[in-house]
Amino acid sequence: MDSSGLKDINAKVEYLKKNKRRITPQLLEVLRIISRNGGHFTASDIYNEIKKTFPSISLNTVYCILKKLNTVGDVQEVVTLGKETNYCPNGKQHHHVICTKCKKIEDVELKLFDINAVKKQMETDYEIENYSVMFNGFCKVCRVKGAS
Ligand SMILES: [Zn+2]
Ligand SMILES: [Zn+2]
Repeated sequence: MDSSGLKDINAKVEYLKKNKRRITPQLLEVLRIISRNGGHFTASDIYNEIKKTFPSISLNTVYCILKKLNTVGDVQEVVTLGKETNYCPNGKQHHHVICTKCKKIEDVELKLFDINAVKKQMETDYEIENYSVMFNGFCKVCRVKGAS
């Protein structure tokens, strides 16, 4: 791992401490794996990786750690239709596109609408905190495969 990745993790740990979260060696390892992988992941992805370092860890513990990170906004849950929950380490406001065929998920950074206008329109019923949009379609790889 390069030093910028390491700095990133230290900042996250500091943030978690400030939010009174207990830092366990398992949590640190999850942060390392997330930082190394870069992209979206499922709890099973993390579980398969972390077992190499902590052989006795359970999938449930991994879920608990991800939940903890989710509540402090470090990872974002991405709900995919009928499949395992995916997590996203991109802290910036963005949307997702999922490939209908291979289920690959990627980030979409587009400004779709004026969130303040939406908040205003909905304010009597909801206090909107966040939003995301999921696009569906066929990725490049699947389109090429489909054509051959
Ligand atoms: Zn695809
Ligand atoms: Zn994302």
